[in-house]
Amino acid sequence: MIKIKRLYEEGKDLFAVSDESPFYPDGKGGQLGDRGSIGPAKVLYVKEVNGEVHHKIDKPIEPREYDFEIDQARRKDIATQHTAQHILSAAFLKIAQAQTVSFHMGEETSTIDTDLAVLTERTVEDVEKLANEVVKSCVDVEILLVDREEAERLNLRKAISEKVGQKVRIVKIQDFDLSACGGFHVKNTGEIGIIKIVDWEKVKQNLTRVHFVAGERALKHFQECVTVTKSLQRTLTCSLRDLPTRIEALIEKIKSVSSLLDRISEEHAQLIAASLLRRKIFGYEVAFYEGFPSVAKALLKQPPADLLVCKLEEEFALSSDRIDCGQIVSKLRSILNVPGGGGKKRGSVKINMDMEEFLNLLEKALEVEK
Ligand SMILES: [Zn+2]
Repeated sequence: MIKIKRLYEEGKDLFAVSDESPFYPDGKGGQLGDRGSIGPAKVLYVKEVNGEVHHKIDKPIEPREYDFEIDQARRKDIATQHTAQHILSAAFLKIAQAQTVSFHMGEETSTIDTDLAVLTERTVEDVEKLANEVVKSCVDVEILLVDREEAERLNLRKAISEKVGQKVRIVKIQDFDLSACGGFHVKNTGEIGIIKIVDWEKVKQNLTRVHFVAGERALKHFQECVTVTKSLQRTLTCSLRDLPTRIEALIEKIKSVSSLLDRISEEHAQLIAASLLRRKIFGYEVAFYEGFPSVAKALLKQPPADLLVCKLEEEFALSSDRIDCGQIVSKLRSILNVPGGGGKKRGSVKINMDMEEFLNLLEKALEVEK
């Protein structure tokens, strides 16, 4: 039973408060919190506030005693990730003499921040190998309750936190790891199945953040990787191993084709510049182009008339060395009430209409200008 003593609202959230709770709070020791139900209400989040436990619930309940249920599958997953973290942290210490500075458990992956400035693939492989050997040896994970003085004499991986009281809860994985921890752990390392590092990155103060998954999460991750690479292999008709070189070659090809396209477009723009369709509007010569965006881009660089208008996809671009494009755009915007912008030499208006319609509107804008 759990005794709810009061309820309160915080924005859209509703919290049920108790002095004691079987629900493990979110964020405590870097761990995820429990989920489940209190009476008819679902527990969505749990936090510890000044010695009380605040349960975020999905519907209002009366303050009284209730039966509760804890999502055991989730707790098992939390225990798996947490024990994997102990093993991984110990492996980093043994292989790379790297201390774990902090730990964060996420809903999909978890992270440890190690004091390594540089992490190589080789070290990652060695750490994973050692960690998974501990998993495969199926050793018991023991929980010991010892006095603080005794705990301090033990060779713990990390110093005991100031917050810990007289009795210290020690998690012992045979002679591999010994650390003080209040979270959930599996009973035997074999339950973890596999530990896999999936990514790492440099973070503040020369630390390396290591992202990892364990147990069911590792299987899910592997399944996702296979689905994605299979689909890429089918699209690119190549083997898994050839994927990186195949993709690099494609990117190189796209780069060279696009620079070739730019060069051809510029040549083409020079050829057609003099013969573009033109119209006189209030003494200004206005040339217009409707066609390839890359050619339009090249034409806009050097307007072949007082004003050049190019129709692009759902947008009209303006370019001029004589008329203030920014002013034309603001006139057009006031007439049309559409987005647009620009400076003296260039401008654009987002609108979908045909060239003739646009030129008529332009006439109105230039008329005001005159
Ligand atoms: Zn732990």
